[in-house]
Amino acid sequence: MSSTAGKVIKCRAAVAWEAGKPLVIEEVEVAPPQAMEVRVKILYTSLCHTDVYFWEAKGQTPVFPRIFGHEAGGIVECVGEGVTDLAPGDHVLPVFTGECKECAHCKSEESNMCNLLRINTDRGVMLNDGKSRFTINGKPIYHFVGTSTFSEYTVTHVGCLAKINPLAPLDKVCVLSCGISTGLGATLNVAKPKRGSTVAVFGLGAVGLAAAEGARIAGASRIIGVDLNPNRFEEAKKFGCTEFVNPKDYNKPVQEVLAEMTDGGVDRSVECTGHIDAMISAFECVHDGWGVAVLVGVPHKDAVFKTHPINLLNERTLKGTFFGNYKPRTDIPSVVEKYMAKDLELEKFITHSVPFSQINKAFDLMLKGEGIRCIISMDE
Ligand code: NAD
Ligand code: ZN
Repeated sequence: MSSTAGKVIKCRAAVAWEAGKPLVIEEVEVAPPQAMEVRVKILYTSLCHTDVYFWEAKGQTPVFPRIFGHEAGGIVECVGEGVTDLAPGDHVLPVFTGECKECAHCKSEESNMCNLLRINTDRGVMLNDGKSRFTINGKPIYHFVGTSTFSEYTVTHVGCLAKINPLAPLDKVCVLSCGISTGLGATLNVAKPKRGSTVAVFGLGAVGLAAAEGARIAGASRIIGVDLNPNRFEEAKKFGCTEFVNPKDYNKPVQEVLAEMTDGGVDRSVECTGHIDAMISAFECVHDGWGVAVLVGVPHKDAVFKTHPINLLNERTLKGTFFGNYKPRTDIPSVVEKYMAKDLELEKFITHSVPFSQINKAFDLMLKGEGIRCIISMDE
């Protein structure tokens, strides 16, 4: 047992006091874990666009003050009552959507939408008692998607932690705790392109580039990257993209451009932008008869998907997924092993790193569309 087990820990956390305002590094009190909870020392975290949407709170419910962060790697510090799968010292990746292992979804081979622990972006408290484990002078600071990794210590439900190989470098595999697994799984587990097929990827950030990587692994012969930011195209070649389309270069809808390039439409498309117009284009650009489109981007809360039903009648399929359909506890340890066996490269997704004290720089980079993933080191 560590000397801190069962006690309140005081540590640094990056607190978002208000929507869109720079995070402030504060000393927070982190309560001990309750039943089925685990307290984790975060070593590395990275920024995903989902954090930015909820921090901006332009198209999402504002919940403040809040500690964001959901893509991370850490070490178990202590465990609450009833936790038998994890012990202090275990290396873990927190995941925004959990796996209780007992509900109908966890027992289904098809679903990762756990009844108890599925993503809930508007809840800022722990399930056990409806309260936050973070306080500053007794005032609660809310959680984000059950992970809140922009803190040196955090408390999560045991079902939101994937136990991984302790030899895996946490500064690299932390990106598997959201973005890279999401994109990879969206292609490999949901879109399932056949060898030789044509795949369009909308949005070439970390999630989209991981989706492209999945298409390459699946043996797609053409991988068409679609992005509004032309700076993404050069980088995307490293991830298997063979052609590029910038919708801004055409005066017709991008789905028509793609249909012309591919003799009627792509076999599969994966949308990783979060923008409703891109979601509709990603669906309408798939070939009739067999095309499958997969939505991954997190939409604006008022967004409505509108397409003519004939597009579905003509035998196109529309799907969506969280976390690439992976079950975090069951599947993620083996994705980490793929990296350890050098079957999956993560380094090329990591373009920047900053000390925790400069976490706001990671936000600036993402807002400017620079780089792919920025790793934030908690010990600096
Ligand atoms: P990112 O900002 O790094 O990349 C998004 C890319 O999309 C950018 O390059 C941007 O230029 C491009 N883009 C924006 N609008 C576009 C449009 N209309 N057409 C074409 N390209 C466009 O973001 P990211 O971290 O890679 O995340 C991508 C999306 O995936 C976000 O919406 C994020 O919230 C979502 N996400 C979903 C899940 C899930 O489980 N479903 C998990 C993680 C992230
Ligand atoms: Zn994410």
